[in-house]
Amino acid sequence: MIGPGQSSVPVSAGVHVRKLLTGAAVALSAAVPGALAAVGPGAQAAPSRPVPSPPTPRAPAPAAQARPDLAKLVTLKDVQRHLSAFQEIADYNGGNRAVGGQGFGVSVRYVVGRLKKAGFKPRVQRFTFPYWRERSAPVLARVAPSKASYKVAADFLTLAYSGAGQVTAPVAAVDLPSSGEGTSGCESGDFAGFRKGSIALMQRGTCAFATKVAKARAAGAAAAIIFNKPGEKGPVNGTVERLAPIPVVGPSYQVGSELAKAAKRGGLKMRVKTDAVHGKRSASNVVADTRRGRAGNVVLVGAHLDSVPAGPGINDNATGAAALLAVAEKIGKLRGTDVRNRVRFAWWGAEEEGLVGSTHYVRSLRAAERGRIALALNFDMLGSPNGTRAVYDGDHSGRVGTAPPAGSGAIEKVFRDYFAGRHLPVTQAPFDGRSDYGPFVAKGIPAGGIETGAEGVKTAAEAKAYGGRPGKAYDPCYHARCDRMKNVDLKLLDTNVDGVAYATQRFAASTLPVNGEARFVAVPAAPYRPEWQGPYLVR
Ligand SMILES: [Zn+2]
Repeated sequence: MIGPGQSSVPVSAGVHVRKLLTGAAVALSAAVPGALAAVGPGAQAAPSRPVPSPPTPRAPAPAAQARPDLAKLVTLKDVQRHLSAFQEIADYNGGNRAVGGQGFGVSVRYVVGRLKKAGFKPRVQRFTFPYWRERSAPVLARVAPSKASYKVAADFLTLAYSGAGQVTAPVAAVDLPSSGEGTSGCESGDFAGFRKGSIALMQRGTCAFATKVAKARAAGAAAAIIFNKPGEKGPVNGTVERLAPIPVVGPSYQVGSELAKAAKRGGLKMRVKTDAVHGKRSASNVVADTRRGRAGNVVLVGAHLDSVPAGPGINDNATGAAALLAVAEKIGKLRGTDVRNRVRFAWWGAEEEGLVGSTHYVRSLRAAERGRIALALNFDMLGSPNGTRAVYDGDHSGRVGTAPPAGSGAIEKVFRDYFAGRHLPVTQAPFDGRSDYGPFVAKGIPAGGIETGAEGVKTAAEAKAYGGRPGKAYDPCYHARCDRMKNVDLKLLDTNVDGVAYATQRFAASTLPVNGEARFVAVPAAPYRPEWQGPYLVR
C-alpha cells in the first residue's frame, strides 16, 4: 500500500531492492491447500461460534443484556498473535510473503486454518498473474557527448513490466513540453521523424505509461525513458501494466530535464539496461462469509495478504490481514439480530503486483452478484511507526483522487464519528484507488477504510496531533526488509483495529446510510481512471 505522493524506494548496499528477486521465492509458485477447490464468489459460508458464554456469577452488571461490542471482544493480543505468525512464516520462507514464493502459500494456509477453526468455510480462489521481478540492478548512463551514469532509486527506477535488454543508441526527445505536464508520447504524431532504433525520451503526463510505451514501440524505439513531471520528487515509480517489449526506465524530473537539454543540443547517446524475469504464476484470494445475515446485502471487509519480495510485510499488510482475522474469529459472539447483513471477509493476493487478486475477484462476479455487495471496506497498513490515522476521503472533500461512488461519504463518516467519540485524531487519505478498494470503486460499489501512511512524509501539524517525527516518512520501512514486528506502532494499531471491528459490526447491523439496504446494480458515475495500480503509478 500506499500513501500520498511519490515513492522513494529504499536501497540497501547500492542495490535496488524493491523488485529484486530472492532466490528461494522464484522457483516456487504459491502453494494452495489442495483440498480446497476454487470456489465461485457466490458460495456460502459457515457457522460461526456457538452462543456467547454467560456472564460470570460475580459480574456486577447484567452483562447478558449488554450488546456485545466487537471492538472490545477483539484484543490487541489476538492481533499480535497473528502478526507473529506472519513474521515467522516470512522468516522461514526466504524472508518474505510475496506471491510467487512459498511465504505467500503458507500465509494462505494459515488464514484458512484459523478460519476453519472459527467455524467458517473459507474458499480459496485461485488466479494467475503476470509475474515480473527485476533480477539485477538496471543501468542508465550517458555515453556521448559526455559520460555520466545515474544511480538507481535516487535518480531512476525500472518501470514494472519493463522488458529486459540492453540498448546503446541515440536519444530522441518526443514532444517534450517547455513547461507543465504536456502530452509527450501520448499522440502518434509526437513520433513524426523519429529514427528507428533510437531511445525515446518522454515526460510523464496526461496518458498512461503503457500508452507512451506502445506508441514509442510502434515508432521503432529500442528503449523508452519516461522522466518525472515538474513538481514531483524522485524517480517514476510506475508500471506499464503489461509486459513491454523494450526496456522502460523512469528518471526523476531533474535527471530528465538534464537529458532533455542534452538531446536538444544534439549528439546525445545513452545506454539503458534492464534485467527482469517474467512469466505466469498463480496466487489466490481467501474469502469467507458469515453464515448469518442476508445474502442480498453483503458487507465486504478486505485486506491484502501478500508482501513485497523485499521483506516480510508486517505493517504492509500483516496488520490489516491480522485485524481481519481477529475480527472474523470474534464475530460469532455477536447476537444473531446484530448480524442482519452477511459479512464477507477477503484476504487478497497479489495486491503488490497491482491489485491483481481483488481485480480478479470483482471480474469473476456476475452483475447480480456484484449488486449484492453493499460496500467494500479495505485495510492496508494499520500500524505505521510514524503514522497517522487516515480515513479514505469518501465524500471527496479533499477534491483529489477519483470521485467516489455514492455512499462512500457515509462510510467515511462512520469511521470519523467513531474515532471522534474516542477523542482520537483522524486525517484524510486521498480516494485514489491505490489499494484493493479500487476494483470495487470501478464498478460503482461504495468503499472506505483506514490507513496509516507509507512513504509519504509526516507534516508538522500531523506530528502535533499524533506525535512522531515531522519531516520523516510515515513508514521508513515501507516495502523494505525492515518491515518486521518492530516496525509496528502497537498503540496506533490497537485503536485502528477497534475501528475495523466497530465498522464491521455497524455495517453488519445496518448499511442503511450507505445504500438504503437495497440491492442494486451500481453504475459508476464516471469512468474510473485511477492514478495508481497498487504500489505503482499508471500515469
Ligand atoms: Zn499494502
